[in-house]
Amino acid sequence: MNLRSLVLIATGTMAALCFSACTTLPKASAGNGPLILISIDGFRWDYLQKYDVPTLRQLAAAGTHTRRLIPSFPSRTFPNHYTLVTGLRPEHHGIVNNYFHDPALKADFAKSNNETYWWSGGEPVWITAEKQGVRSACYFWPGSEVELQGRHPSFSKPYDKKLRPAQRVDGLLEWLALPEAERPHLFVLYFDTVDVASHTYGPESPETAAAVHEVDSALARLLDGLVKLGRRDTTNLVVVSDHGMSETSPDRVVFFDDLMDMSLVTVEANGPHGGVRPKPGVDTAALVASIRAKAPPQVHVYLREEVPEQLHYRASNRIPPIVFVPDDHWCIEQKTGWPLLQARFDRGNHGWDPATPNMGALFIASGPAFRRGVKLPDVDNIHVYNLVCSVLGLTPAPNDGDNRLARAALAR
Ligand code: AMP
Ligand code: ZN
Ligand code: ZN
Repeated sequence: MNLRSLVLIATGTMAALCFSACTTLPKASAGNGPLILISIDGFRWDYLQKYDVPTLRQLAAAGTHTRRLIPSFPSRTFPNHYTLVTGLRPEHHGIVNNYFHDPALKADFAKSNNETYWWSGGEPVWITAEKQGVRSACYFWPGSEVELQGRHPSFSKPYDKKLRPAQRVDGLLEWLALPEAERPHLFVLYFDTVDVASHTYGPESPETAAAVHEVDSALARLLDGLVKLGRRDTTNLVVVSDHGMSETSPDRVVFFDDLMDMSLVTVEANGPHGGVRPKPGVDTAALVASIRAKAPPQVHVYLREEVPEQLHYRASNRIPPIVFVPDDHWCIEQKTGWPLLQARFDRGNHGWDPATPNMGALFIASGPAFRRGVKLPDVDNIHVYNLVCSVLGLTPAPNDGDNRLARAALAR
């Protein structure tokens, strides 16, 4: 660790204040190598210390990392992956959950829905790149199979959850080895095994430790591949996750049914955060008041318009009119179908308030564009898009982030 990083750790708050005072987006100065944006779904921020991840630790030591990357609400996969690549809060890009209802279209969104309509509230960085003449390649990422503004990445793959991390890396390396005229400059890569293991077995399980190690080994394979292509020193890597993970149990569940007459509402979100839409003719404000009177202290209930400002979760009619925010580890569910759900209840989950420490995610940036040996304080994930645009010399689309991460992380 060098002197500069020690100073940054010691003066974290001061540094954060200084970043937000600066407004212009800096451009990376070191070379014009490619950038690979990698997501390890569900990699909680403290797995970097807790588990056997020599490659990630080496990248962090050689680059810039934050204590936590703070997700956007709800801390679920689809909203946050789209925030990472657009810089927009879910209330603005419109992917407000993994599953949601759109009252304008009178239709429901589900994870594998790749129709333009659902995603057109945001401009992902691969579209920004293609519009500005920079070729892109996506090895899985929510939204990467969608045509937007008449464009799509130069290369992409239909999502296939069966492919192991090493196979995904080998596929990415094939794109990296293309002749220069065809070769993309922006790559994105997505791993889901850590998320899957920690849902099933919990964040502190040997299975999660093994999944984390498998992804770390896949990253080592990627670095080896870059060395063989002679591109290791010129390639920039940004490794992130979408959210953290907390233990859950069927013993820490609150039921919608105990708080309201279920015939008055449609349930649109359940689990670590909840949402209901009152049926036509129901007095929503009166319903919220009666739900609040019955709710236990670990479940916070809001009218959409009154969701706490720091959650940034009001400005879309895709957000249910009544929002439930349980405390860490608590879930809200329906009694209908409960015996089945109880029998296969996840040992780990995510979706809570992003300020919950366990929801903290990962951010590491390593390569010639980035400062070396720097640890920064927590940063919101809306700032990653501007950072990636800076490194690639792209003009970002309007978004909710600013230049603080780019100013703090880029080598001058
Ligand atoms: P969740 O943990 O429910 O927030 O969602 C994570 C899961 O979403 C992953 O484990 C995958 O099964 C699924 N998933 C991730 N990316 C995609 C994608 N591009 N298309 C469809 N499903 C995906
Ligand atoms: Zn996720
Ligand atoms: Zn998950």
